Amino acid sequence: MTTPAIITVAITGAVPRKADNPAVPITPAEQIDSTRAAFEAGASVVHLHVRDDDGSSSSDVGRFAAVQDGIRRSCPGMIVQFSTGGRGRDPAERAKPLSLNPDMASLATGSVNFADQIYDNHPRLVTAMAEEMIKRGIKPEIEVFDLAMLYTAARMTERGLLRRPPHLQLVLGIANALPARRRLVEFAVAEMNELIPGATWTAAGIGRHQLEVACWALELGGHCRTGLEDNLKFDKSRLAASNAELVAQVVALCPQYGRHPASPAEARAILKLA
Ligand code: ZN
Repeated sequence: MTTPAIITVAITGAVPRKADNPAVPITPAEQIDSTRAAFEAGASVVHLHVRDDDGSSSSDVGRFAAVQDGIRRSCPGMIVQFSTGGRGRDPAERAKPLSLNPDMASLATGSVNFADQIYDNHPRLVTAMAEEMIKRGIKPEIEVFDLAMLYTAARMTERGLLRRPPHLQLVLGIANALPARRRLVEFAVAEMNELIPGATWTAAGIGRHQLEVACWALELGGHCRTGLEDNLKFDKSRLAASNAELVAQVVALCPQYGRHPASPAEARAILKLA
């Protein structure tokens, strides 16, 4: 018996362009096609950003609606997770796509430095987005870019701003934020288990750390995230051909850790989604 591992595919992100890797899906049609291929390869969650016509990061509700509709039609049961992330987006607009009631949405519970910018999440914005998600029955994925965000998530859970059990994602390997170190994952998971019993978790390794972080998550009982948002390369020698290829890379790792890719039904049961 193997245990299910939820594989999230982060198909597009806010930053990469076709010039970086031509496989990055930008238009809604490309995003739907790329998600379907990743779904068929074993992903059960899609983490979604949308872009404007010029390729820049967008909070456009119409775009989110078009992509969500297409994914729901072509990927039965797949969990749709919207990004509420800040890069390139007006803070006042970031929560607007929540009106479309996706299954999940990302929620960073604090601010942090990235390589050359501040990822700014004012406590008022964090609270407002958490309240909106509770009201709409949207499950947050708590983005832990720095350990304080884990402790903030624990406090928000105690105060009823996050429904139990919350789902957290450790984001590792961003310059100026958390490094990709296994001991850090072990520590964070131990703290989470003590402070937020029942919480579930994913770990995302950025860039060249993607695969090793996936291995730690599979071994330590967590879930995995992959995709072109986080990493453009298949290995040192070449670019990834598609999001599906990166998903298949994680699927291939599962058996050696006693795991299998979660079906959409298994993923929904683990995350306590409808
Ligand atoms: Zn994202």
